[in-house]
Formats: sequence, C-alpha cells, structure tokens
Amino acid sequence: LSIRDSLTGLYNRRYLDGQLAQTYLESQVNRETFTVLISDIDNFKKVNDTFSHSVGDEVLKIVGKIFADNIWGGDVVARYGGEEFVAVFRNTSLDKALTVAEKLRQKVESYPWHEIHPKLSITISIGLCADLSLGNHEKMVAVADDNLYLAKRHGKNQVRA
Ligand code: GH3
Ligand code: MG
Ligand code: MG
Repeated sequence: LSIRDSLTGLYNRRYLDGQLAQTYLESQVNRETFTVLISDIDNFKKVNDTFSHSVGDEVLKIVGKIFADNIWGGDVVARYGGEEFVAVFRNTSLDKALTVAEKLRQKVESYPWHEIHPKLSITISIGLCADLSLGNHEKMVAVADDNLYLAKRHGKNQVRA
C-alpha cells in the first residue's frame, strides 16, 4: 500500500493517521506536547470553476510544496483530503506551532500566483490543537477541525487555536 499522495508527493491520510496515533502515545510516555494542524484552501471550488481543474491541481501541488519546504525534519505533513493538509509538529507547544502556522499562511498568501494566472490568488485557513488531555489523537484532530471552521467563519485566511 502506498503511503504517498500521487498529486502532491506528500504522505496520505492513512499514513498520517498511523503517525498521529504513534505521536500521541510517545508524547504521553515522554511527557511532551505536540500540535496538530489542519489547513484548508479558501474558496477552492471557485478556483476550479473560474480557472480550470488543471490550475486547481497546480495550486494543490504548490501549496503542498510550501508545506513540505517549511516543516522541520521529523514532522509529518499529509494531504488529508481534497484540498486539506494536516501536519503533526512533534514536541512542539501551541505557541511555537502558532508561529509556524502563521508563517505557512503568509507564504501561501504571498506566493506569486499571478504567474499561473494574472487573476489567481490563493489563501488558506488553519486550525490547531495541542490539547493532549482530550484523551486520543482523533479528538485532537476534531478540535483542530473545529478551530479551522472558526477561521473560516471569521473571514478565512487566518489561524485559530
Ligand atoms: P472554503 O473556503 O469554505 O473551504 O470553500 P471551498 O470552495 O474551498 O470548499 P468546498 O469544500 O466547497 O470545495 C472544495 C473543492 O475542492 C471542491 C473540489 O472540486 C475540489 N477538489 C478536491 N480535490 C481536488 C483535486 O484533486 N483537484 C482539484 N483541481 N480540485 C479538487
Ligand atoms: Mg475542504
Ligand atoms: Mg476549502
């Protein structure tokens, strides 16, 4: 079974879920914290509809590369769904993760998207969770997803924790 997503070359959801479960256990044993990040491209349906599905695919590849290039060795980043990316920051407090997430948000916003199409611009919204007391990694993902939803509701192109 493949552990990679064929479009972006990032890890796939199945692999990420295994890594998350392991990271949760290790963090408990070592009394460390870690942070789950969920990111979703803003208004992506409109990108496909306005510019074409192949431009959409190109955007996914570039956003994937921005994530891969800005994540530390040992951390895992995956394409989690259509236009959703999940990262696991090992041994990383919420504070530090917020800094990384904000950097990722800015890198996506400032990428020269106009080189692909003069009218193209892309932003992402991000939700975080570093609360190990929730009891398992699935609940941490669910809370990160709730925070992503908050970021969307408050206008998108922002990070919420
Ligand atoms: P929001 O800001 O609320 O996230 O709005 P959105 O338009 O991004 O969200 P929505 O879930 O409505 O649309 C997601 C789109 O992602 C719809 C789907 O066609 C597109 N998509 C999913 N996978 C792929 C893919 O592999 N390639 C391309 N080009 N598009 C994809
Ligand atoms: Mg989505
Ligand atoms: Mg979206």
